[in-house]
Amino acid sequence: MNSTDVFVIGGGPAGLAAAIAARQRGLRVVVADGARPPIDKACGEALMPDAITALEGLGVTIPAAEACRLRGVRFLGSGLSAEAAFPGSDPGLSIRRTALHRILIERAEGLGVDLLWQSAVTGIASQEVRLGKRTIRARWIIGADGVNSRVRRWANLDAQSRTNLRYAFRRHYRVPPWTDRMEIYWGEHVQGYATAVSSEQVCVAVASHNPELRLEESLRALPELNSRLRGAETASTERGASSANRELRRVWRGNVALIGDASGTVDAITGEGLGLSFSQAAVLASCLSSGNLAGYQEAHRRLARRPLLMARLMLALDGRPKLQRRILQIFRKRPEIFRRMLALHIGTISPFHLALDGLALGWGLLTA
Ligand SMILES: Cc1cc2nc3c(=O)[nH]c(=O)nc-3n(C[C@H](O)[C@H](O)[C@H](O)COP(=O)(O)OP(=O)(O)OC[C@H]3O[C@@H](n4cnc5c(N)ncnc54)[C@H](O)[C@@H]3O)c2cc1C
Repeated sequence: MNSTDVFVIGGGPAGLAAAIAARQRGLRVVVADGARPPIDKACGEALMPDAITALEGLGVTIPAAEACRLRGVRFLGSGLSAEAAFPGSDPGLSIRRTALHRILIERAEGLGVDLLWQSAVTGIASQEVRLGKRTIRARWIIGADGVNSRVRRWANLDAQSRTNLRYAFRRHYRVPPWTDRMEIYWGEHVQGYATAVSSEQVCVAVASHNPELRLEESLRALPELNSRLRGAETASTERGASSANRELRRVWRGNVALIGDASGTVDAITGEGLGLSFSQAAVLASCLSSGNLAGYQEAHRRLARRPLLMARLMLALDGRPKLQRRILQIFRKRPEIFRRMLALHIGTISPFHLALDGLALGWGLLTA
């Protein structure tokens, strides 16, 4: 094969989603990734209900046996806890990255996407992708090569604003799950996330501004989470990653478009990175099939707005233990506020509606 309609650089979740969506529109698609599947990565492994809806649009169904249901979110800290269920009847899911990767590959293969593994892309030209000595012609080139994207640099799309760079670590523990919520544990300068990924494993991630603060040490600052894990065997090695709110000035140029973490990121605390890339895939494919990438920019910005807002709201609590405590107390006393925040988070109400009932003002006062 010497030519294709769409060449996707990076076969992580965003690249595979982009490939599936483009193939659904009848385009010929090649994906190349330097690694070999199943590809693992530091991740909280939670898919919010809106991510499941986006996956359904791609024709991807996650078998019940591969995932755990997530019914909402629980905040814990200072000996307090507050929780809210997802609105509606659709739960979120938590699933091992490796299982999600396999399921996405199966769907892409089923649609006839050409997948090239252990095939690092070494450069691009106007309508060409280079893999070492091999060259493949492509009408469209998609950069789905993650947070340190080289495609972004090659296409001169690197101009970005980045806020709140944090360092995250994750590991799995062999312990019977104690919750069907995505749990966020608030320490003074570190948060811990726990999600059940099977009947015997929990995924634990921590994030802070301190690159030296690895998982074990972070857990000591999160006593409630630490006590859940006491004596549990570890089931995976510790993996690290950076986490930040990053917005690019542009996400396309000429015939090159970026998707997923290559196109900007939202902090891990939102649990929205994957869902965002699945939604981006659908709009990107629609722009490709109409032959015009200009609409992708605005749609991309619109999709990122809500998770970025939620990340900023939640990170306003970081390093402010008194405020964390106050918010937890308010969420316990007025659970409907937490429920509406969660509904905003997953996109079932708009910030406009939230503002209408005065909650935005309340939240603003609390975070002032
Ligand atoms: C600690 C942490 C917790 C998170 N928790 C959640 C969560 O609970 N829920 C959620 O939805 N999101 C979460 N996220 C975000 C989510 O993990 C990312 O948004 C998601 O992995 C982005 O996928 P991607 O395909 O864009 O990038 P990646 O998964 O990084 O994939 C990029 C791929 O490109 C390949 N590649 C790179 N360069 C080349 C090249 N030159 N040639 C060929 N291939 C190349 C790589 O091998 C890789 O496979 C979390 C992130 C962090 C850091």
